[in-house]
Amino acid sequence: LDPSAANLSSEDGAMERALRPDSLSEFSGQPKIVENLKVFIQAAVQRGDSLDHVLLHGPPGLGKTTLSHIIANELGAELKLTSGPVLEKPGDLAGLLTNLNEGDVLFIDEIHRLNNVVEEYLYSAMEDYRIDIMIDSGPNARSVQISLEPFTLVGATTRMGLLTAPMRARFGINCLLDYYDTETLVRIIRRSCEIMQVPITEEGAEEIARRSRGTPRIANALLRRIRDFAQVKGNGTIDKAIADFGLAALNVDEGGLDEMDNKILDAIIHKFKGGPVGVSTIATAVGEEVGTIEEVHEPFLIMEGYLMRTPRGRQATEKAYYHVGATPPGAANTLF
Ligand code: ADP
Repeated sequence: LDPSAANLSSEDGAMERALRPDSLSEFSGQPKIVENLKVFIQAAVQRGDSLDHVLLHGPPGLGKTTLSHIIANELGAELKLTSGPVLEKPGDLAGLLTNLNEGDVLFIDEIHRLNNVVEEYLYSAMEDYRIDIMIDSGPNARSVQISLEPFTLVGATTRMGLLTAPMRARFGINCLLDYYDTETLVRIIRRSCEIMQVPITEEGAEEIARRSRGTPRIANALLRRIRDFAQVKGNGTIDKAIADFGLAALNVDEGGLDEMDNKILDAIIHKFKGGPVGVSTIATAVGEEVGTIEEVHEPFLIMEGYLMRTPRGRQATEKAYYHVGATPPGAANTLF
C-alpha cells in the first residue's frame, strides 16, 4: 500500500527484507529516536513490563516497519503485523488482539486509515487491555468483556494530521522520523553492498546517497538497479561513472528528483503560472493521486526548497524555476 513499494517485484521484496537491520545498533541515523528507544526498552525489560505504545510518524521508506521489527526483537517478543485498511470490522481486530501473548508487539501500519468503529475498540484495548465484544444480534444481543494480555501497540502513519486526537493521546512514546542525510545514507548503502556482496567505491556510494531523496528504501532500490548496470555495462564495481549512468537511465536527475517530482514542478510553473495552486488541481494535471503527492513528493520538494506551502496552495520557488529551465518572475527585469 506504500506508494514507493508498490512496484517492487517479489525478488525485490525478499531483498528488501534481507537488507533490513534487526537491532537498534544496526539501525543507522535517527539518533534521538534510537537513544530514547534504547532507554525505554531497557527500562521496560528490567521492570518486566510491556513497553508503552509507540507511534512512528514520517514519510514512506524511512524505517517505520523496520523499527517495529527491531522493537519486538529487542523486547524478545513476537511481532504481529497488520494495517489500518485491513481491519474492517471490530472482529478482525479482536481476532488479532486475543491471539497476543504477554509483551507481544502489534504493528498497525497506516493507522490513520482505521475506521471509527475499529478505532473505538482499540482505545480500551490500549488503555485497559480489555475489549467489549457484542455477541448475537437483535433482542439477544449482549456485550461480553474479554481481557487481553498486556501488549505494545506500534502504530505507523505517514499522515499525522489525519490521526484523531484521542488516538494520538493513547501513545506514550512518539517518534517523528526525519529524512536521512547523505552521510547516513552512504553508511546504509555500504552495509547493503556488503550483504549483497557488491563492490562499491566511496564516490559511487555518495552519488547514490545524494540522489536518494533522503530515503533508505529509495537508496536500496536504486542500488539494486545500479548493481545491474555495473554487472552488464561495467566490471561489476559500482563507481561514480556507473552510478551516474544508472541514475540517468532511471530518470533520477542531478538534484535527486524523480520523474514525478519534475512533472509536478513543471505543471505548477508552466500550467499554473508558478502557483499558488491547490494540490488536487496539481494531482489531476500530473495524473497522480493526491495522497501520494502529499505524502511522498511534496514533503521532499518542500525540504529541498523547490516548493512552498501557502494558505492558498502550493507555490514554486525560484530554485524550482531554474531547475525546470524557466526564468522566475521578477528575474527577467533585473537581467537587462
Ligand atoms: P517504512 O515502514 O517507513 O515505509 P521501512 O521500514 O519498510 O519503511 O524501510 C524500507 C527499507 O529501508 C527497509 O527494507 C530497510 O532495508 C531500509 N531502512 C530503513 N531505515 C533504515 C535504517 N535506518 N538503516 C538501514 N536501513 C534502513
